[in-house]
Amino acid sequence: MPTYEYRCERCGTFEAFQAITESPLKACPTCGGPVERLISRNVNILFKGSGFHVTDYRSKSYKEAAKKEESSVSSSGSSLDD
Ligand SMILES: [Zn+2]
Repeated sequence: MPTYEYRCERCGTFEAFQAITESPLKACPTCGGPVERLISRNVNILFKGSGFHVTDYRSKSYKEAAKKEESSVSSSGSSLDD
């Protein structure tokens, strides 16, 4: 489960364990004041976990390639106007 870092005006920074599907905290669990979510250290974990990163990158480029193919197919339909 990822750790998110928040900053409370009164309590300072604190960490909260949350599932990715959970929406970010808006109120401090200690004082109930407004909190701001900081860029978490999970970013570093992403870069370190090269296996996950590479897999993600591949699937993204694959999707983009598929998208290109799709648009070229639809644009070739307009070539009938020639
Ligand atoms: Zn607080």
